[in-house]
Amino acid sequence: MKSVFKSLILALIMSAVSTVAKAQSKIAFEVSFTEPQAHYVDVEMVITGNKKDQLDIKMPAWAPGSYLIREFAKNVEEFSAAGSKGALPVEKTNKNTWRISTGKSSEVKIKYRVYAFEISVRTSFVDDSHAFLSPTGIFMYPAGQIKESSTVKINLAKGWSKISTGLENVKGKSHTYYSPDFDVLYDSPIEVGSQDVFEFTASGVKHEVAMVGGGNYDKDRLKKDMARIVEEETSIFGVNPNKRYVFIVHNYSAGGGGLEHFNSTVLGASRFGYANENSYQGFLGLVAHEYFHLWNVKRLRPVALGPFDYDNENYTSNLWIAEGFTAYYDNLMLRRADFHSPERYLNVLAGEINLVENQPGNRVQAVSDASFDAWIKQYRPNENSKNSGISYYNKGALVAMVMDLEIINATRGAKGLDDVMKAMYDEYYTRQDRGYTDAEFKSMAEKIAGKSFDKIYNDYVNGTKVIDYTQILGYAGLALENTAGQKSEPYIGATTSGRDGKITINNVSRNSPAWISGLNVNDEIIAIDGFRVTDLEKMISLKKAGDKITVLISRDGVLKNIELNLEKNQALKYRIIAVEDPTSLQLKVRSKWLKLSDTDKDS
Ligand SMILES: [Zn+2]
Repeated sequence: MKSVFKSLILALIMSAVSTVAKAQSKIAFEVSFTEPQAHYVDVEMVITGNKKDQLDIKMPAWAPGSYLIREFAKNVEEFSAAGSKGALPVEKTNKNTWRISTGKSSEVKIKYRVYAFEISVRTSFVDDSHAFLSPTGIFMYPAGQIKESSTVKINLAKGWSKISTGLENVKGKSHTYYSPDFDVLYDSPIEVGSQDVFEFTASGVKHEVAMVGGGNYDKDRLKKDMARIVEEETSIFGVNPNKRYVFIVHNYSAGGGGLEHFNSTVLGASRFGYANENSYQGFLGLVAHEYFHLWNVKRLRPVALGPFDYDNENYTSNLWIAEGFTAYYDNLMLRRADFHSPERYLNVLAGEINLVENQPGNRVQAVSDASFDAWIKQYRPNENSKNSGISYYNKGALVAMVMDLEIINATRGAKGLDDVMKAMYDEYYTRQDRGYTDAEFKSMAEKIAGKSFDKIYNDYVNGTKVIDYTQILGYAGLALENTAGQKSEPYIGATTSGRDGKITINNVSRNSPAWISGLNVNDEIIAIDGFRVTDLEKMISLKKAGDKITVLISRDGVLKNIELNLEKNQALKYRIIAVEDPTSLQLKVRSKWLKLSDTDKDS
């Protein structure tokens, strides 16, 4: 009751403030496209009511949700400033700051151009067909004024007719939008062009879908299926905080990936993938993932992730919750909304387990460390990444599974991870509106489970121990079976790529024969035991584990023989199977976890 009352009052205050602020925004952007074919965005930024001698104007260095310093200032050209009496002196003081000596001019008009030719969900792109404005790389802010409101007017290029964005339209002004502060502006990507827009309503929220780039999608099917996902996810939190939500979908020849925002998202999809069932399910999984983020990370967030420092890395050891739990839920949502059968869901989960457990870096880097180092590792992978680290998406999803099953089992089916997510949302977003600490998340999970999670944190979050799958899956009367166990095929432990008739090593797996004998990434494999290699896999398969072979390689043009002992391939290939004669508690846990219907239970 208290929080409902509070948010009602807040909403009333907010609407009063925003009407006034709209009329008085001191910062007005105007975006034009004079040369879209050459990928330029022309930005004008007018600051009124200035009283300062000096204004530092800054471009963010990164886009929240994508944890890499991207240096958006690198794309800026022709920065200039003018006051009421003409041009003003500008000095660049660091990589992303322009210092204007204003002469106390109350109006300062800034102009600059941004080169936008990087197709991705977190960078900007313009050509003659459309513009995608990823706001952290387009709009600058006056230092120290991140809380200032602003308006954005968009001048469409020839032939363009539509704008799709989560920003609020300024009443009575066409193509003009309002941001209460820069955090909102930076969280509101803008698509401009001739996109195909359709709408659906779900959980009381109006959803707009802007399809860019064409494709073989079926609008009616998407409306129904996307609505099912929205409703399934809303039911976890019991509240859908937006009035309006915008999906901007970029359809490419082979697109993928997405980026979450406060009341919108940008998705990359394959233009002609919608008719293929697997690829369509992949798209729905992406929708489920990014939509789940509107609660998990955009509102319920680790303490370091908002308010943001746009200049520097924002470190958190909790991306395994922000991203990993979201990855866990995207598949689980497809199961609960019945897009995945229980069998299919368990196959997907087994795939995730195989990926994590076959990666040598899973024994080297804890998932909390992987989170902290996202800026220098996850987003900057190299040839050794699989040996040295683990993805907080994949491992985080497995930790979510561990916690979910622990809670369902400990409470005999009364509670689950959903209850932790909802309680955290209610407490730290709705009630306190601040980020949570690592200890606060753990403590809430323990409170709902009614037991200590010390072991989970010591072994799986901050440690690198193998998850006790027998115990965890056992709660649901399930077990892992390694189907690769019987084979003894020989392997060298290096993967290769073939180009220009050359077989070149692109990865060497930790502790494999290739690793031990000193085969390197970039080595070209020429011959084995004196015979030219044209098909490496076939040649190896003719040998036996234990055989000693001589590999002739070319390393930077120098020929070299390397002796290597073939070993049995240790790769795990798990599937999840049901145990015989499950107890009634095991069946109860399984049923709650996988949201089984009575028909599912029979099969
Ligand atoms: Zn995500």
